[in-house]
Amino acid sequence: MSPKSYAFLHGEFVPLEEAKVGIDTHALHYGTGVFEGIRGNWNKDKETLYVFRLREHYERMAQGCRMLMLDIPYSTDDLCDITVELIARCGYKEDIYIRPLAYKSARHVANLKLNELASDFCLMTIPFGNYLDTDALRCCTSTWRRPDDRSIPPRFKFTGVYINSILAKTEAALAGFDEAILLNSDDNVSEGAGENLFMVVNGKLYTPPLGDSVLPGITRSAVMELAREEFGLEVAEAHISRTELYTADECFLTGTAAHLTPMVELDNRKIADGKIGPISKALREMYFKVAVGNNPKYLHWCTPVTSEPDSA
Ligand code: PMP
Repeated sequence: MSPKSYAFLHGEFVPLEEAKVGIDTHALHYGTGVFEGIRGNWNKDKETLYVFRLREHYERMAQGCRMLMLDIPYSTDDLCDITVELIARCGYKEDIYIRPLAYKSARHVANLKLNELASDFCLMTIPFGNYLDTDALRCCTSTWRRPDDRSIPPRFKFTGVYINSILAKTEAALAGFDEAILLNSDDNVSEGAGENLFMVVNGKLYTPPLGDSVLPGITRSAVMELAREEFGLEVAEAHISRTELYTADECFLTGTAAHLTPMVELDNRKIADGKIGPISKALREMYFKVAVGNNPKYLHWCTPVTSEPDSA
C-alpha cells in the first residue's frame, strides 16, 4: 500500500490503514449497505484523471439509500466533492477504481429494523487496471438465477445482493470460464455477474429491459447513447432467451470494471465465428475514447481531477 492511500471515514480523510470499523457493525453481518464502483481513467497526454459519470453513480447510490433507509448526511454534490478531494489527495497518475459505500453503521447486531439503525458513508480508491483477463470472453450460463424484485431488488448495488454474483462468478471461474451469464427467474437472460449484456442481430443492438432483474448500468446507458448518437444504430430493450445468445451475430458485456468486453463464446459454443465482431469493436473504441476524456462532445461525462501539489 502506498503512503498516499487515503480513505474517507466518519466524516474525515484518514490514511487507508487507519480506516477501520468495529466487528459489531450492522452492515458487516447483514449486507446492509449500498455501494458504487466508479472508474477514474488516467489521460497521459492531458496529465489528468477523468472520473467517468461521477454524478450518475451517486444518483444511483442515493436511490439505493432510500430503499434501504440509509440516511447519510451528504448530498450528491457533497459526495462528488468528497470524491474529487480524496483522489486529489492520493495523487494517482494511473487508472483507479473508486469505491463509495453507504452502510448501516449501527453497532448493533440484533436488530433487523432498518428505521432504527444509524447510517454512515465511507470511500476509498485503489489503482485498478483490467478487471477481466481477456478482451474476448468465454462465458457459461450460470446455474444461479438473478434475484428479482420479489426477493431482493437487483436494481440497486446492495452489498448483500453480491453473494449472488460471487456464487456465479466463482462457479464460472472454477469451471474454466471467464464470466457467468445469469438468467432471471423467468428464464430470460439477465446480465453477467458484474456486467450488463448486449447482443447484435442484423445490425441492431438488443439488451434486456431493467425488469428482467438487471442493474441499471451506467456503462449500459452510455453505450446505448453512443450506439444511437455516434453510429446511428437501433437499440432495443427486449427479453432475450438463452438460445438467442447462441445464434446472435455479436455479444458483449458492459460495466465500470469490465468496460465494454466482447463475449465470443457461450457454453462452449462460438458466437458467430468466435471472433470480436465489428460493431463491438467500433463501440469499444468509441467508449474508451470517451471515458478517457478524449472526445469533447462527451466531456460532460468526465470529471477532471488534478493531484494536489504535495500529494505525489
Ligand atoms: N450488473 C451488475 C450485477 C454489476 O455489478 C455491474 C457493475 N456495477 C453492472 C451490471 C454494470 O453497471 P455499471 O455499468 O454501472 O458499472
